[in-house]
Amino acid sequence: MGRDPEGAEFGAIDERRKLALAVFDWCAVCGMPFGDEPRWQVLPLVGEEVNSHAEMGFGEAPVHEVCAVYAAQVCPHLSSPNARLGDGQRAGQRREQTVELGGFRRTTQVNVHPSPIQQGKSTLTFCHADEVNRFAYSRPEELEARYHQLLCDEQDIFVKPSEAKLIALFNSMVDENNEDPGGVVAGAAMYAGAVFAPSILSVLGLSAYASHANSAHLFLDHENLRIWAIEAKDPATKLMARWLIARKDNIPDVLAEWRKIGRTSPPPTESRSRRAR
Ligand SMILES: [Zn+2]
Repeated sequence: MGRDPEGAEFGAIDERRKLALAVFDWCAVCGMPFGDEPRWQVLPLVGEEVNSHAEMGFGEAPVHEVCAVYAAQVCPHLSSPNARLGDGQRAGQRREQTVELGGFRRTTQVNVHPSPIQQGKSTLTFCHADEVNRFAYSRPEELEARYHQLLCDEQDIFVKPSEAKLIALFNSMVDENNEDPGGVVAGAAMYAGAVFAPSILSVLGLSAYASHANSAHLFLDHENLRIWAIEAKDPATKLMARWLIARKDNIPDVLAEWRKIGRTSPPPTESRSRRAR
C-alpha cells in the first residue's frame, strides 16, 4: 500500500502528518507501522559521525528501508543529483551529490524544535538510537540490486483491523496538492497523548488543537477508552481509542512518554478554566 509516487513525501513537510506518524509509529512513505523494523533517515552530511545528528534529531519522519530505497528511485528530490526541493519554504536548496541513509533500531524521542525557517514557530524532530546500518548512493540505478533483495526479504506487516482503518483514514486525507484538509488523525494523535508533549502547541499547524488539552486526560483512562471506542462521533477518535485498547501496554515509546507526562500533570478543572478566562 501507498508506495506510489504520491506516497513518497520526502520533499514536503506537514507537521500534522509528522505528529500522527510519531504517535502511531508509522512509516512516512507507506504509512504502515515499524514494529521491530529499523527506522531509516537521510543523513544530513555524508560521512559525518551519525551520533551527533541522531541525538540532535531529524526534521523528517523515518521510513522503512524498502520504502527509503523505493523513494530514492521515484522521488524527484532524492533520485537525481542536484534536484531541487519541492516545497516553497525550501525552494532553491539542492540535494547533495551523494545521499547517505542510516537505519536505527528504535526511535527514542520526538522533540519540539525551533523552526530554522520560521521565527517563533517550531517543528518536530525525530531522535533515534542504535544505528544498525547505513549506505550511500549517487544515482538511483545503484540501488536496484538492494531494492530487489529487500523485496525478496520483505515480510507482510500484520495490523489489527482498527489500525488498518486508521491508516486508511490517514492516507485518504492527502489531496493532490499534498494538503491535509481535516487533520482529524492529527487531532486523534493529540488526544492519544501528544497534547501533553512540552511546547507542542508551538509547532506549525498544531495550535488549532489547543482545546484538546481540556479532555485529553480522559484518554488516559482505560474505562473511558472503552466508551470512546464505541461512542465517539469522530471516526479518527473512535479508531484511536480502539488502537490504544488493542495495543494495551505495547504502545510506541514516544507516545508512552507523552502519556506519562499527562498522568503526572493535573487535569484542567472548571475553576481553573474559569480563572483562565
Ligand atoms: Zn514503509
